[in-house]
Amino acid sequence: MEPSKLFSEMEELKTEMTETSMDLIRIPAIAPENGGQGESKRAEKLMQILNHVGFDKIDRHDAIDERVSSRKRPNIVAHCFGEKPDEKLWIVTHMDIVPPGEDSLWTVTKPFEPVIKNGRIYGRGSEDNLQSMVASIFAVKALKNLKTKPKRTISLCFVADEEQGSTYGIKHLLTEGLFKPEDLVIVPDGGRADGGFIENAEKSIIWLKIRTLGKQTHASRPGDGLNANRIAMEYILTVDKTLHNIYAAKDKIFDPPRSTFEPTKRDKNVDAVNIVPGEDISYLDSRILPQYDVEEVLATIRNIAKEFETKRRARIELEVLQKTIAPRPTDPKARIVLMLKDAIRKSLNVKAEIGGIGGGTCAAFFRQAGIPAVVWSTVDEVAHQPNEYSKIENLVSDAKVLVTLAIQP
Ligand SMILES: [Zn+2]
Repeated sequence: MEPSKLFSEMEELKTEMTETSMDLIRIPAIAPENGGQGESKRAEKLMQILNHVGFDKIDRHDAIDERVSSRKRPNIVAHCFGEKPDEKLWIVTHMDIVPPGEDSLWTVTKPFEPVIKNGRIYGRGSEDNLQSMVASIFAVKALKNLKTKPKRTISLCFVADEEQGSTYGIKHLLTEGLFKPEDLVIVPDGGRADGGFIENAEKSIIWLKIRTLGKQTHASRPGDGLNANRIAMEYILTVDKTLHNIYAAKDKIFDPPRSTFEPTKRDKNVDAVNIVPGEDISYLDSRILPQYDVEEVLATIRNIAKEFETKRRARIELEVLQKTIAPRPTDPKARIVLMLKDAIRKSLNVKAEIGGIGGGTCAAFFRQAGIPAVVWSTVDEVAHQPNEYSKIENLVSDAKVLVTLAIQP
């Protein structure tokens, strides 16, 4: 099969791809940690779409989660058998999304009411990760429409729980023994605007919950209490400065090249302006270069907490919400890297670079399991932002790259 025939088929499918993406945006898939019901509703819709395409085999690998009303976190694996059935190309995308955030910042449209504007689909999840999900489905649809068997079996994985650490998603699937070290694995969940960046390495990640306990009192008599808000701010700022100073190394294969330490979320505290808060709950997101020991970074954060406890008589409780130790990077000469480079050149006429990012995607868990995996897609990187969008042009061209991977000798 000539790639050009598949490419023109992909152009024919453009409208259908766009509509499919919009249909999926309309069904939110938010984690229970963020007050959602998980991915079950979106998975139902996805099953309809996949059945319609005519995959050769569809399996479910749902994980039990009592926190959501369906009691499960869905994971779907859809196969399209190839000439070499045992050689597998896995394309892994995630169904879950992050919450929309501040409503007023969504100025183009409401997060779950997708619209098309200037060749872009706007809506939460449009880029992260529906663009690649829909592209992977339509790569198979184009092959089916042209009655072409791919060179190797294409296995699409649609996973849950990526945004909260993947316990109910790819980590669950990896324990089921589906993947082999010789498989080709691509995780299209990050990249650059020109499609010219293949990610083969990620940083280590720590998500920390910081609970500071003082004593609540009236704001007119602060001496009667202990202001947890102030102590928390001072503590977090000290941690912020200290970590940036100690772990300051640069590694050029990463973008950005340094470790990052960002105070992010903050829980609501007291209800009135005139109350001194007795409790503060804040969060820290750290992305650490692989050269540093994650336990040592944690020890640094804990030691500063102890100093503050003695000095300020407050209690500081630290809870690690997520800890992912950066696995060894995928070899830049691994077969999947070389094949993808070639497919990008043939489909987009772009020479791809290879490098690392702040993480974390499903690829890290494959690497931990000793399976080479790459991250790639064509995105403006508007994931997790208000007015998130996906360029329709990228939706189509990513599908072309994926189908090229499937038919490459
Ligand atoms: Zn993502």
